[in-house]
Order: sequence, then C-alpha cells, then structure tokens
Amino acid sequence: MKRILVTGGSGFLGSHLCDQLLAEGNEVLCVDNYFTGRRENIAHLLQHPRFEAMRHDVTFPLFVEVDQIYNLACPASPVHYQFDPVQTTKTSVIGAINMLGLAKRIKARILQASTSEVYGDPEVHPQAEDYWGRVNPIGIRSCYDEGKRCAETLFFDYHRQHRLDIKVMRIFNTYGPRMHPNDGRVVSNFIVQALSGDDITIYGDGSQTRSFCYVDDLISGMVALMKSRDDFTGPVNIGNPGEFTMLELAEKVLKQVGGTSKITFRPLPQDDPKQRQPDISLAKSELGWEPRVALEDGLQETIAYFRSLLNA
Ligand code: NAD
Ligand code: UDP
Ligand code: UDP
Repeated sequence: MKRILVTGGSGFLGSHLCDQLLAEGNEVLCVDNYFTGRRENIAHLLQHPRFEAMRHDVTFPLFVEVDQIYNLACPASPVHYQFDPVQTTKTSVIGAINMLGLAKRIKARILQASTSEVYGDPEVHPQAEDYWGRVNPIGIRSCYDEGKRCAETLFFDYHRQHRLDIKVMRIFNTYGPRMHPNDGRVVSNFIVQALSGDDITIYGDGSQTRSFCYVDDLISGMVALMKSRDDFTGPVNIGNPGEFTMLELAEKVLKQVGGTSKITFRPLPQDDPKQRQPDISLAKSELGWEPRVALEDGLQETIAYFRSLLNA
C-alpha cells in the first residue's frame, strides 16, 4: 500500500485514477480547487476509509507526506482553459514548481499529465516523442500548450538538477463517463447535442482529425507508467492511434444515439490543430501497454453515462 497524491483528482481523468488506485489497495489524497472538477465525480469515494479529499489550489505551496504524486491539476478543455488564461499558465507552471518542490522534499516519484498539445499543429504524422512540435507562443491556445511545455521543462530540469524520479506522459484526446456535460470538448458536445435533439456543431469543415482514447485504457497506461523501471522518465505518448475526422465522429455519434439532430457548421477556432495521431511504439515496448477499447464501444459507455445524467 502506498500513500498517493492525485492533483486534479475530482476532474474527469483524476476521479477515474482515484478509483483505480483505491482498487489496488492504496491510500489516496485528492487535491482539487473544483474549477472544472465536480464533487459528484468523487461523491462515491467520500466514505472510503483510504480516501481523503482536500480543497486546495496547486499554485500555492502544499505540505503533505506521500509516496507518489500524480499531477493532473489543470483545466483540459479549450473552453475552460481559455476562460482565465493567466490562471491556466499559473496552474501549469507554478503548480508544477510546487509539486516538484514537494516531491523533492519528500523524495516521492512524480508523474506529470502532459498533453499531445505540446506537438501543436504538427507537420509530422503520426507524432512520436522525439518530434519537438509546432506551437504558436502567442495564440489563444498558448496558455495551455506553452504552460504544459514549460511544465515538461521543469520536470526534466528537476530530474537533471535534483535527481528527481519523474514520469512524463503525453495524453492524447481522451473521453468517457464523468466528462462534464458543458465541458466543451468534442465528444461530450456531440453526445449531449445528439441526446438533446440539438444541432451537432462541427467547427470548420470537419476534415480535421483526432485520435480518441477511452478513459479506462488511458488510466491503465498512466498507472503502468508510474510503475515503470526507475530509469524510464518518458516522455511517452498514451493514446489510441485510431484516427477520425470530426465529420466521421459526428456521424458515429448520430448513428449510435439515433434521434433527429442535424449537422451544422461553425467557424474553426484559431490555431485548431488539423491532425493528431499518437505513435505509441514507445508505450508498447516500455510499458507493454496498448489500448483495447474501440471507439464504438467507448462511445456506447459514454452515451449511456450522459443519457442517465440528462434524465436525472
Ligand atoms: P478536468 O478539467 O476534468 O480535470 C482537471 C482538474 O484539475 C479539475 O478537477 C480541476 O478542478 C482541477 N484544477 C484545475 N486547476 C487547478 C488548480 N489550480 N489547483 C487544483 N486543482 C485544479 O480535465 P481532465 O480531462 O481530467 O484532465 C486532467 C489532466 O490531464 C489535465 O492536466 C489535462 O491537461 C491532462 N490531459 C487531458 C486530456 C484529455 O483528453 N482528457 C488530454 C491531454 C492532457
Ligand atoms: N514546496 C511545496 N511543498 C513542499 C516543498 C516545497 O509546496 O513540501 C514548494 C515551495 O513553496 C517552493 C516550490 O515548491 O516554492 C519549489 O521548491 P524548491 O525546494 O524546488 O525551491 P525553493 O524552495 O528553493 O524555491
Ligand atoms: N470541435 C467541433 N465541435 C465541437 C467541439 C469541438 O467540431 O462542438 C472540434 C474542434 O474544433 C477540434 C476537435 O473538435 O478540431 C477536438 O476539439 P476538443 O476541444 O475536443 O479538443 P482539442 O482541440 O484540444 O484536441
């Protein structure tokens, strides 16, 4: 049994991670400021004897004693991270410094939830970890992209300078139950629109691609990375290489939900990446990990979740 800190633990991914770590017999301290996270996501854990929830903003120092740290605190949806962009950069950068300072003091292994956004709008396809990316430093996505890139820099400098035991994970688009219904990301938007009979909003002409990973696969990759051999730091891509255009995604959601929604087209947001697909060779060879859940099956679970949420 380990004592494990999960920052951003009441968010979409964080709450699933808390479930998994508790199921493995660990003690979990969930730290969150509830900016995009929800108490409902962890309500079922509040009476658990090995679970503790703490309201705290990671841009402020945190003094606790744990064995491992998963640093997930940061809004992930463009709508939310652009709402207060200065706070987004602070969360990524100052949050990383505080969690790295904590890890240094207590000699804990620390994992960073980084992102495929470090590759920006990529001219290399699919993206492998040795690609340096093509990121606009001054655009509306930069608070997130550059914040996450700087956090990676900090992780590797604490590793080189202070010999910190780090793991850096680059997460590609992930979906599943407990996404916020107003989250603004494409999978939750399309499903909620289809279930409500509203128009499906495609930004641009819908030819841009993303590769969607189901949450259970993502969490198993995250935990496998935390348990990987001592001298493996990453960065490592975790995602599902199945690549779809947004038009294809809309058609799949419409087919699986049924109903009468029509597809409408809206302007493409600035700097929206045109393509995104992970090269997961490194995850396969180092972690023995690959995703198992096909998009249709993951969508089925996610649709069932939103259906019960909207009917409640
Ligand atoms: P989410 O918005 O559901 O969760 C983020 C959590 O962090 C929320 O609970 C939020 O309240 C909390 N938080 C935000 N700022 C905080 C602060 N200053 N102090 C403490 N808590 C704070 O998003 P998610 O999809 O669960 O993403 C989790 C992590 O994974 C994020 O770091 C995100 O960048 C990364 N990631 C996610 C995806 C994805 O597709 N879901 C892709 C790439 C990277
Ligand atoms: N920190 C923290 N918890 C700890 C130890 C450090 O939040 O248990 C914070 C601390 O406030 C500092 C940051 O982590 O701002 C970086 O710590 P580090 O020791 O690397 O740097 P220094 O304190 O020398 O600036
Ligand atoms: N998107 C869309 N309709 C929506 C929400 C998003 O067409 O209602 C598009 C968006 O422009 C982008 C893709 O879907 O090209 C994925 O968007 P999301 O916000 O989920 O993630 P990210 O752009 O960060 O990968």
